[in-house]
Amino acid sequence: MLLKRKDKITKSYDVIVIGSGLAGMTAANKLAKDGRSVLLLEAHNKLGGFATWFRRNAKDGEKHIFDISLHGFPVGMVKTCRRHWSKEIADKIERVDKIRFINPQFDISTDFTKEDYIRILVEKFNLTEEEVTGFFKELREMNFYDDSTLKNADLFERYFPGRNDVVRFLLEPMAYANGSTLEDEAITFGIVFSNFMNKGAYIFRGGTDMLIGMMRDELLANGVDIKLHTFVDEITTESGVVSGVRVGEDHIQAKTVISNSSLHNTIFKMVGEDKLSPAFIEKARAVRINTSSCQVFMGLKEGESIPNVGELIFYSDSEKFDTELLLSPQAHSQTFSIYYPDMRPHLPQKYAIVSSMNARYEDWANLTKEEYEKRKDFLIEKAISTVDKLIPGGVRDKIEHVNASTPLTIEKYTHHHFGSSFGTKFEGLEVSKDLTKEIEGLYHSGSVGIIMSGWLGAANYGVIQAHDLNTYLDSKNNNQATKDAEVQHV
Ligand SMILES: Cc1cc2nc3c(=O)[nH]c(=O)nc-3n(C[C@H](O)[C@H](O)[C@H](O)COP(=O)(O)OP(=O)(O)OC[C@H]3O[C@@H](n4cnc5c(N)ncnc54)[C@H](O)[C@@H]3O)c2cc1C
Repeated sequence: MLLKRKDKITKSYDVIVIGSGLAGMTAANKLAKDGRSVLLLEAHNKLGGFATWFRRNAKDGEKHIFDISLHGFPVGMVKTCRRHWSKEIADKIERVDKIRFINPQFDISTDFTKEDYIRILVEKFNLTEEEVTGFFKELREMNFYDDSTLKNADLFERYFPGRNDVVRFLLEPMAYANGSTLEDEAITFGIVFSNFMNKGAYIFRGGTDMLIGMMRDELLANGVDIKLHTFVDEITTESGVVSGVRVGEDHIQAKTVISNSSLHNTIFKMVGEDKLSPAFIEKARAVRINTSSCQVFMGLKEGESIPNVGELIFYSDSEKFDTELLLSPQAHSQTFSIYYPDMRPHLPQKYAIVSSMNARYEDWANLTKEEYEKRKDFLIEKAISTVDKLIPGGVRDKIEHVNASTPLTIEKYTHHHFGSSFGTKFEGLEVSKDLTKEIEGLYHSGSVGIIMSGWLGAANYGVIQAHDLNTYLDSKNNNQATKDAEVQHV
């Protein structure tokens, strides 16, 4: 049931899910399908978390629609959606056929499959087939329990010494997909890159609004109670066991809670240090937060069009690939997603272009209003002037609507600590998993550890944590049944 803002919740649930990102929603849907009573609480006025979109009025009376994070995810999302959502959702996932890289080192078009990557690395980067296949073999064999001291920079140097151009071709897409840097653990790159290289990058045909609408219908059909506009202040416990959540003055009871809020907020704001062991707190404090993002959204006038230049362009004006430059407010590197009218075939024809840049929260947090606006204007102009060059015939005069978002926008809408776009670095995953050892019945799920980030990582982590929660509830119910039987016997 979709609860109204004023509805008071008196029911006690098997599970409360805090936050409706892809991890929270997928966990909620799986648990409801498994027969649990589930309440999904979301602070925002719509479901989806980063899997979101917004509309702006167009001059013709219709709307421009912009997607925030629908740029590309691995093929595994098809299986995850088929199994844990519906065939109808899975069937709308389609491959992105043309991804371009344009930078001072190379201009390349690829379908982002392993075969094409290997071909390009051999033909255009003059590497031997053995060097390239050896690298891919090592990536494929990586798993979570491998040596985590090996960094991306070491891995690339081992296989492609001194080849900054090769590093750019391999790492730049991952930097945009989940904030990966040269300093991150190589296993995180290996696992996520192999997922993409399995069969290329995919998108959801119909747009994020359609996907989240279908997911909402599915959640409601499976009996999930959903309440929007509901910010959870506290996760409550009794003698080390979770007892529910507090929303303002109201307490809602539950046997278990999954928090899809950021790891930092879950631990330090909603649970509280006094309920956790000093060793756990120390580990949680050491978790590094991932970087943030800026975006520029450009909507074209009704009747205007652009030729097909591909759906994703990784553009950079930096001579060399450098993760520091990637984060600079000077926007040296930008990823352009081009949304042609066939993204939303059911709506009036409109083209949209979204430019995304990785960014640091601290470069945006302490500016005066004037400095902030000036920096935003700079980003907008840089995005327009770049895309104007990239699209044959130009595009500047065709743009009707433009606006920009910054790390502060992310913080405002998702409550993520430091506006983090991709959760935490590697060590966050262990802390997230261990939360349940500290507070019985409490689980965290959402972007952590790079591996569990992005659409697929987040959705899959929702499934993993829902599975563990199910096992916990089963054992709790079995214990209760045994106790009841003993009482009857006595
Ligand atoms: C600009 C950008 C581009 C991206 N591009 C891609 C891409 O192309 N491909 C890809 O795979 N991934 C991409 N991502 C990453 C991907 O979108 C995220 O990793 C994923 O959607 C995160 O899901 P999540 O489950 O961690 O939750 P989030 O999306 O982080 O959602 C958490 C939800 O919890 C809610 N919440 C938080 N605290 C509370 C509270 N106290 N009470 C109630 N509700 C609360 C928030 O409002 C939010 O709705 C991108 C991200 C960004 C920012």
